[in-house]
Amino acid sequence: MAKVFKGRYFWNSDPLNAPLGSRPSYAWKSIHTAQELLRQGARAVVGNGESIDIWRNKWLGSKPADAILRVKKVVPQYYRVISSLSRVKDLLDESGREWRKDILETVFPEDERRLIEELRPGGKGTQDNYTWDYTKFGGYTVKSGYWVLTQIIQKRNIPQEVSQPSLNPIYQKIWQCHASPKVHHFLWRCLSNCLSVAGNLAHRHLSREAACVRCPASTESVNHLLFKCSFARLVWAISPIPAPPGGEWADSLYVNLYWVLNLGQEQPHLKNTAHLVPWLIWRLWKTRNELVFKGKEYYAQEVLRRATDDYEEWSTIRVVEARNSGPRVEENLLGCWRPPPHQWVKCNTDASWPQEDNRCGIGWVLRNEKGEVLWMGARALPKTKSVLEAELEAMRWAILSLSRFHYKKVMFESDAQVLINLLNSDEVWPSLQPALQDIQKLLHHFEEVKFVYIPRGGNVVADRIARESLSFSSYDPKLYSIVPYWIKSTLV
Ligand SMILES: [Zn+2]
Repeated sequence: MAKVFKGRYFWNSDPLNAPLGSRPSYAWKSIHTAQELLRQGARAVVGNGESIDIWRNKWLGSKPADAILRVKKVVPQYYRVISSLSRVKDLLDESGREWRKDILETVFPEDERRLIEELRPGGKGTQDNYTWDYTKFGGYTVKSGYWVLTQIIQKRNIPQEVSQPSLNPIYQKIWQCHASPKVHHFLWRCLSNCLSVAGNLAHRHLSREAACVRCPASTESVNHLLFKCSFARLVWAISPIPAPPGGEWADSLYVNLYWVLNLGQEQPHLKNTAHLVPWLIWRLWKTRNELVFKGKEYYAQEVLRRATDDYEEWSTIRVVEARNSGPRVEENLLGCWRPPPHQWVKCNTDASWPQEDNRCGIGWVLRNEKGEVLWMGARALPKTKSVLEAELEAMRWAILSLSRFHYKKVMFESDAQVLINLLNSDEVWPSLQPALQDIQKLLHHFEEVKFVYIPRGGNVVADRIARESLSFSSYDPKLYSIVPYWIKSTLV
């Protein structure tokens, strides 16, 4: 996306910062909206750092990404250093994979430096990339773009309703209630006002009709559909769920949802009945869709019966699943390390990424077909943005080291299933692209490699190394050809 825009409309400028101008054409205005979207969600990912402007491109921090905003007060002799810095590559060492600590320390204040150091550049042979912050894999999707537009950019311009109770407790209730992920997600959409009810569609000019199919005089809002509609009121009335105090459903969706989702807790004798609530809400929505799209009518009693069936079916499945999943989980954790085939070596990698720490640890261990340890690597890193990134770093460092040691046939093993899938496919994850590109290039040094998933039980040595490296006092990498004392008990 960014590439196309840059080519056509932003000759020499940064696509994320071009101004709107005084008399914008329609096309330009749509591009400007897209630009605002990009500004909110796009970020530059450091490959070789040659195309990223340190001071103007958004490449740092959490959403939305930022450029460097501050520098240290430096003594005059360093002015020249600062003025010579323009592209991110100026902050990188020879290999392009590590930051120049001396420059970072001279020029940037602590906070800025930490933001830089949490990034792992792809290296000299790789390209810079753009990624999109609102999907897991970093690619732009229409759906996520629409979400950012409606949930972030447009909301900024609308004053929030003041009378709303805090939504957090209701969101929590939603994830706690007894229902399937599908129903959780549906409730979440209700609460976030993301349902395609007539009122919402008319508001977005997608439909002229804002009225409820059953009550032409009322706008079909989520609250109307689920609580205020004559049909919904009937369904609730014949259900075992008590109406709110006063007998009337409120005009606020949040107040109503809060009432029905809290029943079990506030009135313990209703605990079992309360399990029905999410399913009943779900059925009201399904029934409405069948009426709107297929013209199919149901009696209120039928809706209630189907909701009860849904709940019972789901809880039966859960009991069966729980019974079956016991031994499988154990097996997963146990697993067991096996030596590589004849003439191969095997390298296990792992990362440790403790929630509360501001650093993470990576480690790998290389063993031959007899199970003897040949090499080990351990390193602490400033905490990466995600566990997956740390797992990828562990793997990349192992591959880099072994390419220098001239091993030819290597089996790489990790307990990070997503990582292994990623390495075995040609999926494109823009947020990880430079690191993946670096790996692709390094693989040319080998005759044959395999990437294999191993349950955690088979990866304990690498796991132990990764955890040990959290205690290191510096971020310098450590290589061992002699087994260090702290790992001996794990190897036995
Ligand atoms: Zn209605």
